[in-house]
Amino acid sequence: MFKRFLENTTQKNQELKKLYLLIHRYGPIRRVDLIEKTEIKKTTLTRMIDELLKNKFIKENGYGISSVGRPPILYDVESDCNYIIGVHISRMKTNIVLVDLRFKQIDQESFVMTSIHTPEFVIRKLESIIHDFMEKYHFDEKKLLGIGLAIIGPLNQEEGMLLSPNSLLMANWENVRIVEMLQDKFPVKILLKKSPNAAAIAEYHAAGFMHKNILYCISGGWGMDCGVVMDGRILQDHYAGENGYGHMIIDMDGNECSCGKRGCIVAYTSFKGILTELKKENALLDNMNEELFQKASFNEMMEYFLQGDKITEEVILRSSRYLGTGLSNLVNLFNPDLVIVNGPFIYEFEEYYNQVIQYTTQNVQKEKEIIYGQGILKGNAAAVGVAILLFDSYFSE
Ligand SMILES: [Zn+2]
Repeated sequence: MFKRFLENTTQKNQELKKLYLLIHRYGPIRRVDLIEKTEIKKTTLTRMIDELLKNKFIKENGYGISSVGRPPILYDVESDCNYIIGVHISRMKTNIVLVDLRFKQIDQESFVMTSIHTPEFVIRKLESIIHDFMEKYHFDEKKLLGIGLAIIGPLNQEEGMLLSPNSLLMANWENVRIVEMLQDKFPVKILLKKSPNAAAIAEYHAAGFMHKNILYCISGGWGMDCGVVMDGRILQDHYAGENGYGHMIIDMDGNECSCGKRGCIVAYTSFKGILTELKKENALLDNMNEELFQKASFNEMMEYFLQGDKITEEVILRSSRYLGTGLSNLVNLFNPDLVIVNGPFIYEFEEYYNQVIQYTTQNVQKEKEIIYGQGILKGNAAAVGVAILLFDSYFSE
């Protein structure tokens, strides 16, 4: 029912959808404020509100404050009239969230990714987890608005396809038509988006739209990527190719990077970059088997670093300077008011995070106050964000 309302593209319904979206954004809200925002005549607006109420898409939610007369009724959306699933797949783990229409997290599940996690295996796991959610919260596909998938690029978002996420996922993940695979299991709308963009939009919502310009950096184990929200919109939403952020050159004569150039951020901050630096310090690592590291799971790599000695820790901390310097360039370029940094070393080493921020602020050109942090939603940001983007997609068509 609700899905049909969102899919209805008649002119009359567009007006109703616009009103619904306003209530979604500003609710609980008074009728008089809706009139002000829409400039719709009072009688027409009352009729439209009644229609939304009758269908149980919105509800009356208490009373507002009034200086004269009866207190006004407040309107809000029925947050549990449909559900959305958000999935974030990374080399580290697959994270699945169930959210209501207010994007509140109702449940969450995750599983660690290993070398046996082929696309088929992951889809099967997803199928089982989503069915568990449906059973637990008593809803079926009719009440499932859709499934959002957030994955690191490069992707073909329109075709619902992973291209060659060379440094981020395990084998067998090249040219995977992931949307199609999931669609075979769930005949609902499925949307594929780049994870840093999804994470940035989730934090934009989580902070109550307070920060209009956000730089969200994921410094992962195999790469580094950013999502940028500008004036409340994702910058370059349609571009989901290999991102240049991680290959920003910060040392012209620096270490060789996997991209063939020299001195990129990832040449110092990725697992491989840190191993290269470690080799310089420790001759024992000289005959290290590169291939083994390429195939290692995220947890194996992290364990390797966490068990490391004082030198390992020093090398990891040293890499914070490269990330911080790279970030400061991005801050100078995009002028964000909120900067969020996320990644395994950020979460595991407090000192690493502190140093990244210190090196960033040290090189930022501006006087305007910028808030730095690890975000409100932390590791769930991309999964929640892609659920939000799925909801938004019904209004942007
Ligand atoms: Zn590079």
